[in-house]
Amino acid sequence: MVIHYKCPNCGGDMSYDAELGKLHCESCGREDSIEDFPTENIQSVFSEEDGKEYHCKNCGAVIMTDADTTATTCSFCGAGVVLGDRLSGKMAPLRIIPFKISREQAIKAFKSWAGNGRLTPKGFMTADRIKKVTGIYVPFWLYDLNSRVQANALCTKVRTYTRGDYIYTETRYYDVYRDINLDYIKLPVDASEKMNDELMDRLEPYNYGDLKEFKTPYLAGYIAEKYNYDEEELLPRAKSKIENYIHSYISSTIAGYSTVSYNSKNIDTSKKSAYYTLLPVWMVYYDYDNSEHTFAMNGQTGKVVGTPPISYSRVAAWFAGIAGSIFIILRIIALVMGGGLW
Ligand SMILES: [Zn+2]
Ligand SMILES: [Zn+2]
Repeated sequence: MVIHYKCPNCGGDMSYDAELGKLHCESCGREDSIEDFPTENIQSVFSEEDGKEYHCKNCGAVIMTDADTTATTCSFCGAGVVLGDRLSGKMAPLRIIPFKISREQAIKAFKSWAGNGRLTPKGFMTADRIKKVTGIYVPFWLYDLNSRVQANALCTKVRTYTRGDYIYTETRYYDVYRDINLDYIKLPVDASEKMNDELMDRLEPYNYGDLKEFKTPYLAGYIAEKYNYDEEELLPRAKSKIENYIHSYISSTIAGYSTVSYNSKNIDTSKKSAYYTLLPVWMVYYDYDNSEHTFAMNGQTGKVVGTPPISYSRVAAWFAGIAGSIFIILRIIALVMGGGLW
């Protein structure tokens, strides 16, 4: 099933506008809120061939997608289409954070990130290196977890004092026991095979105050993917994400001792719930030095992740600049101290 959102004025294809937070028609400028969009303008086309092939309603072209795509644009006429049958049943997302950063804002941010980096090779931004800019809704599981922790440690407090000719060292031993209950809400784990886990982790945090109930029009004009791993398969990864935090939390409750040595730590983490959620990411693919690089941006907060190309001649020039200013500062200090002979 292919879903088009048709403009009630002119019949053009509408897409979700991140800055307006509404459906927007490129042709005539009409805006509609998602809640009030007239249902008769939602055109659903059922595929005859068991959903194996999707056709664009406008131009009839086959919509090129792989099996994980749930929303895309027609590569012939550019219409935003949502593949409705891939978003139903257990594949139906529960929540979404809509894009807040528009395509133009993402491109601008990319240019300033690459351009004002003084370590970027000269001319990097003068050429048009951007190959592709894609707004993607990445599937995540948001976990609510609970950890029950029992920790037992042998701790000491050491005191040294002098009495007469003798130095005394007094060591007191403490048997410390902690029983801790920790709750986590909305811990995100990327559920897409295609997306790099580390890159996705670095795009955090998202502001979950903007979480909305999922509605398909949010996807109009964007790419969306469905999850490859379910909530049970990713639970170990969710647990490993909080592991360091648990250990540092335990340590923070056992403070004020000279030494702490743990006899046992028993951590039992369980899942309270998991919500299938789509989070917005801008991906910019660019060419440099004959290879392709990626720049990713949190589509809600604008946080940027990526490595700019580094020019070694510029690094050298930059260090020369720093060395020069240190020389001047030393010279001024020397003058103030009454040197002045050099
Ligand atoms: Zn229109
Ligand atoms: Zn088309």
